[in-house]
Amino acid sequence: MDLIEEREGLIKRLIEERYLKTERVIQAFREIPREGFILQNDAPFAYSDYPLDIGHGQTISAPHMVAIMTELLKPKAGDRVLEIGGGSGYQAAILSRLVGSIYSLELDRELALFAKCNLEKVGIKNVHVIVGDGSKGYPPCAPYDKIIVTCATPEIFQSWKDQVAEGGMIIAPVGGFYRQELILLKKTKGSFTEEDHGGVIFVPLRQG
Ligand code: SAH
Repeated sequence: MDLIEEREGLIKRLIEERYLKTERVIQAFREIPREGFILQNDAPFAYSDYPLDIGHGQTISAPHMVAIMTELLKPKAGDRVLEIGGGSGYQAAILSRLVGSIYSLELDRELALFAKCNLEKVGIKNVHVIVGDGSKGYPPCAPYDKIIVTCATPEIFQSWKDQVAEGGMIIAPVGGFYRQELILLKKTKGSFTEEDHGGVIFVPLRQG
């Protein structure tokens, strides 16, 4: 089986399992080659539904987790998105097909370069990878319609609450080292409502 068939197979399973729900998101999964965002030796596992090592002690999330977070964010064509934890660039690449622009913060300089190269190879131009500590957000381009945190955070930092737009959302795995809850915050009239979308496991946010 070639990688394109494997990709279709995975997408079919993610639809059956109700992780992928909306046509636009499904189309984004079809258009982004996950094999372009992993280490070369792992190519045979590109469409297995689990996280893969991308070096520097970090991982690219499992496809079902990318599907869950992307669907919950309800991405819209003009959205400005802030991502905390660029990693391989894959989550940002999926979002690039669905929103206006993405600012992706990555603490690790070499991983930021990895993400930039991966995104460039696939021809993605609306993701801006920035080296920096995402716990402070990224004030220069705020406000953001959506903030997606892809590393485990002990809390939803005030900086993110300040930088998300009115009517916007923050999604983040909140908790300790071994387990977090996937929390979705919605901002309306300056206050936040919170939904808990269940237990998840992400690599930890490190403060720079
Ligand atoms: N979204 C990524 C997966 C991210 S893994 C993907 O699609 O591949 C989590 C990433 O968060 C790691 O690359 C790690 O270096 C980064 N990270 C950890 N702490 C951070 C911080 N304070 N600011 C920005 N990035 C951080």
